[in-house]
Amino acid sequence: MAGSNDLYSSLVNSGPGAFLASKVGLPQPPKLRRYAPAQPALAGPVLLGGFGRLVEPLREILGNGDDYDVVTNNTAGRSADKLGAAVFDATGISSAADLEQLFEFFTPIMRSLGNSARVVVLGTTPELTKSPDEQVAQRALEGFTRSIAKELRDGATAQLVYVHPKAKTGISGVESTLRFLLSAKSTYVDAQVIRVGAEDAATVESWDKPLAGKVALVTGAARGIGATIAEVLARDGAHVIAADIPAAGEALSETANKIGGTALPLDVTADDAGEKIAEHVLQRHSGLDIIVNNAGITRDKLLANMDSGRWNSVIGVNLIAPQTLVNELVERKALNEGGAVVDVSSIAGIAGNRGQTNYGASKAGVIGLVDAYAPVLAKKGITINAVAPGFIETAMTAAIPLATREVGRRMNSLQQGGQTVDVAETVAYFANPASNAVTGNVVRVCGQSLLGA
Ligand code: NAD
Repeated sequence: MAGSNDLYSSLVNSGPGAFLASKVGLPQPPKLRRYAPAQPALAGPVLLGGFGRLVEPLREILGNGDDYDVVTNNTAGRSADKLGAAVFDATGISSAADLEQLFEFFTPIMRSLGNSARVVVLGTTPELTKSPDEQVAQRALEGFTRSIAKELRDGATAQLVYVHPKAKTGISGVESTLRFLLSAKSTYVDAQVIRVGAEDAATVESWDKPLAGKVALVTGAARGIGATIAEVLARDGAHVIAADIPAAGEALSETANKIGGTALPLDVTADDAGEKIAEHVLQRHSGLDIIVNNAGITRDKLLANMDSGRWNSVIGVNLIAPQTLVNELVERKALNEGGAVVDVSSIAGIAGNRGQTNYGASKAGVIGLVDAYAPVLAKKGITINAVAPGFIETAMTAAIPLATREVGRRMNSLQQGGQTVDVAETVAYFANPASNAVTGNVVRVCGQSLLGA
């Protein structure tokens, strides 16, 4: 659903508006399918194809239970039975010539994909392949997936999942990723590459409440993206500790009360922030399972006019705090084994942004945090990943001048801004204990924004 503050989308989705927009060639943002309880994960069947090592285990994973209707022949073509998804196992592609398999599988179904349909290509992590030929061919999958994503219509998206060559035959480690991608929860995630390790998945009792019994801390939870992350983690069963600066006290209590969580007024840059959190979770719970470093600020100025206050506050909140908090929580044994760290980066940390040298540096640094800490935390059975939001409809982006705002909002494959829930769902996927084979990833939630592409 388009944001209530996106008047343009509402207008062109109305009958007369759509007619006018198509006549004059204006972008017509599709209505995106989003998660609703009891709604099927996909709007139609999943077509499964390919000739690699994953196709049979995939059939088992997807065919197990009633969540997906798996088909192997393209029964679509008639508009009545449009595909909800197409999943292709490309791990059998070991030379450039084999890439023809993609062409043969996808060409006939391009017009059979329905609204918000999902395309998922699975490959083998290129650097871990057995031969140069295979590495070349597997690397090629990225360009294919990113291009198909630009051709898809009506809210359909495409992703690439690289699976470790040593993933067990049951490949349970990939299930949480597939369930996220093959659902309405990934609606604003487009053209992303996710790497999944060899580990089997930790068992979750229920895919509806995968975080049951878990304790999660969300910083910057008083409003915006953080408040929605707190809500979604609570929906998935977690007890959420919502943290924000003391000045945001009232809004913070509101977030916490709404979800039956706890409010923890706290400036993440305070010297004793880590100590306070550790004390809280060790006294009231048996430690912390999930930490979401979401608190973030912007203090924009061209570098020529930048002052040290702006520079240091942005680096302090956005980069130093997430690193210090994780260090302290690990040192104080407050972050549990099997836990997850999820950081919030930004496409500005990938593409850079005029007037945001401080912010861009901090958000690229967050990606560095993920790279550097993934192997270290892996030894403790803890994952670390980041989401990099693009244009999300929040108070922050509502304050951008209209013309710039319109450009930011439309310059992506889905021609609209994302909702805070789109970022939150991606955080919840990383936080899922069954995502234990998923670490060191940065997933953009940007509708395949042209920025930094
Ligand atoms: P927001 O300003 O609406 O919310 C940020 C929250 O963080 C506020 O409640 C604020 O009080 C809190 N906060 C700030 N400094 C803090 C501190 N020192 N200690 C504790 N809490 C603190 O922003 P948002 O749009 O919801 O952004 C959330 C995150 O997403 C940020 O890290 C932001 O950089 C990132 N992001 C947002 C967008 C977007 O389009 N809105 C895009 C990319 C990245």
